[in-house]
Amino acid sequence: MTETYDFAAIEQKWQRAWEEERAFRAEADPSRPKYYCLEMYPYPSGRIHMGHVRNYSIGDVIARQKRMAGANVLHPIGWDALGLPAENAAIKHGTHPQTWTLDNVAHMRTQLKRLGISYDWDREVNTCLPDYYKWNQWIFLRMLERGLAYRKESWVNWCPQCRTVLANEQVVGGGCWRCETPVTQKKMEQWFLRITDYAEELLAGHAALQKWPEHVLQMQKNWIGRSTGAHVRFGLDGTSETIEVFTTRIDTIYGATFLVVSAEHPIVPELVAGPKARELGAWVDRTVAKMRKRRDVGETEKHGVDTGKKAVNPFTGERVPIWIANYVLMDYGTGAIMGVPAHDGRDFEFARSYGIPIRTVIAPPGLAGERYDREPAEVFEESGILVNSGPFNGLPSDKAMDEMGKFAEDKGFGRRSTIFRLRDWGISRQRYWGTPIPVIYCERDGVVGVPDEDLPVELPFDVKLTGEEGSPLERLESFVKTTCPKCGGPARRETDTMDTFVDSSWYFFRYCSPRETGRPFRPEDAKAWLPVDLYIGGVEHAILHLIYSRFFTKVLRDFGLTDVSEPFPHYLAQGMVTKDGSAMSKSRGNIVDPDEILVRHGADALRLFILFASPPDKEFAWEEKGLEGCYRFLHRVWTFVHEEIDVFAAPAGGSSPPAGGGGSASQVVKKTHQTIRKVTDDIGARFHLNTAVSSIMELTNLTRKERDALKETPPGRSALRLALESIIQLLSPFAPHLAEELWERTGHSGLLMLSPWPAYDAALAREEMATVVVQVNGKVRDRFEAVPDLPESELEAAALALPKIQAALGGKTPRKVISVRNKLVSIVS
Ligand SMILES: [Zn+2]
Ligand SMILES: [Zn+2]
Repeated sequence: MTETYDFAAIEQKWQRAWEEERAFRAEADPSRPKYYCLEMYPYPSGRIHMGHVRNYSIGDVIARQKRMAGANVLHPIGWDALGLPAENAAIKHGTHPQTWTLDNVAHMRTQLKRLGISYDWDREVNTCLPDYYKWNQWIFLRMLERGLAYRKESWVNWCPQCRTVLANEQVVGGGCWRCETPVTQKKMEQWFLRITDYAEELLAGHAALQKWPEHVLQMQKNWIGRSTGAHVRFGLDGTSETIEVFTTRIDTIYGATFLVVSAEHPIVPELVAGPKARELGAWVDRTVAKMRKRRDVGETEKHGVDTGKKAVNPFTGERVPIWIANYVLMDYGTGAIMGVPAHDGRDFEFARSYGIPIRTVIAPPGLAGERYDREPAEVFEESGILVNSGPFNGLPSDKAMDEMGKFAEDKGFGRRSTIFRLRDWGISRQRYWGTPIPVIYCERDGVVGVPDEDLPVELPFDVKLTGEEGSPLERLESFVKTTCPKCGGPARRETDTMDTFVDSSWYFFRYCSPRETGRPFRPEDAKAWLPVDLYIGGVEHAILHLIYSRFFTKVLRDFGLTDVSEPFPHYLAQGMVTKDGSAMSKSRGNIVDPDEILVRHGADALRLFILFASPPDKEFAWEEKGLEGCYRFLHRVWTFVHEEIDVFAAPAGGSSPPAGGGGSASQVVKKTHQTIRKVTDDIGARFHLNTAVSSIMELTNLTRKERDALKETPPGRSALRLALESIIQLLSPFAPHLAEELWERTGHSGLLMLSPWPAYDAALAREEMATVVVQVNGKVRDRFEAVPDLPESELEAAALALPKIQAALGGKTPRKVISVRNKLVSIVS
């Protein structure tokens, strides 16, 4: 009997069935364990690409398996729909950003449905619609009331190409993250969110994120950049003024042979005053201009000028020269540092090139008795023992830091302290396609928040986009002119819009109450679903999105809307999609369009291949051959089930398949239970989706090989039935359409995706242990039991750990170890 595998018809049929039954709909239900499975929502650029397919297929397997395993699954999707590309596309194609975006959303929604991803479409969220961004505004106003949103003039990163402000995180190697144009600096009034208030908690929260990749936590840690140390005030010689420095190494303060202030430091005019004022002033202006062009001064050469003024070291009373240099930034610490060339690489380099004295004050442990009266040949940055440090001599660095910090506090010229590299989040953007910042400026009342009842402040549709400098909203009189909600007098509306990272900082809350009209979300709903049990997405969001989301969650918690502090206790960073050795990208011309694959091989084959080819967190290399292989496998399953469909016709016969004792039936039954166990663990506990697929393939191969023998006896036939049924069930999260169709054709009623996940019998699934013989110099010395197929390295380690073997070796390191899987470890001593 032949039945064609018409994947196009099958996929359409089941997508319709799932939709009609609203099979993916999630409803809070306290009687069942919940599982919130979330993939990072897409920017609606127009088409789903292979990176999306991978991201959503991974999430879909987990969501489907959890659902079958009895969890109440929330698996939502939406659109990160505001942002610059829409505006640029609108200018380029003479359309409106909203039209462009909504068209793209409609197309991509169809594509996602064709992939059979199990989303609850009733919860779809679109951030460019007022019913979403109204709540950005509401949250902003609550932040404004609490001082968490504020306005200040500051230097900003400016992309001349995109004509907008960029956050520090959006400047990559001195260029714009989006268009790579070199970023310049500009002074502007900006709105900021006070993320620095949460710096300590954002770091401390890492303790709860043990299921995050270590390198992502490290990136966040570096970004937050916590330094403990001390603030110390040096006197400005001949005045009563002081210059405050921050140092992480107060233990080295006796070695401070100069002071450096940033060219942007407010004390600079006073320092340059005097006979050389003109020359120094010109140097400062040039340096400031250069620094503002490029913030990443780390790589530039270190330059400085001696101001001729002196600072007084409060510990020693020593007078040291004050320099102005380009390697000290105003926005880190206090904008002034003490130069300790013997113990800091940058200071060492600087002192060397300007002939500044270098004095050792820290000796390596054990060498504190040496003499340290000559300039060292190289820098020593480690901790050690204090020398040349007056009353603090002989103290180890850590103790000295503590005592010297206390000393400074007692004497009133310093304090122990902590600083962060993290800056407040500048959210003002001078573009159209974003959430209007809900603020009004009144001459009498100053900055006035828009009252809640007037929200949302809607983006006016009727706007002229030219791409010229400044916000398009600024030029729209009907938007700008308004009345003050406090005094009723004439007032102006803020025309800046919010950074779109605001939208993505809380969208996972909105999914819990997507149609709520009175609040961003209902706290009861958040309580029912949050935190997200598994968050899947690209590692490029390690800093921006994932830090902002953590920050917003803490803020919403402090508003009393949720009791969750960490939104994503488990983050799976999905690997890249590559082809021919490099990332798929338009510029490389190596893009494979998912639509084309859907037509040729169908969604099931595409999904299966993407999941089979590599583990979710590793790179996935596209290979046509691999796709063909997966397609053929599905075809084989299809044919196999149809060829043996008779085993489903008869009732199972009451004879449960035999276990143990050898023979095809017991072999296949055992393998089936083992496969169920493996697939369950691989999906549910470890996310090794690739090995889950390969074990389903193994079971299929074995069953096909044994089928003739199986068909001869009633226990054999029921083993065949069990194996086939299990293959269909286990395939269901990966190739859901094919699995549903086979489920129906084998006489089952009801949707497979809503039926229970197959259970395994632990006793039947148990592996038989392998007995491994251990020889030393050709003589059998011991034996041990090992799990089958233990890798050689583990076999050898186990053998070498045996007491009898250790005794036989007599403490000698073996010269050679050879092992044979499941059988033998042979050691030559
Ligand atoms: Zn740009
Ligand atoms: Zn007013």
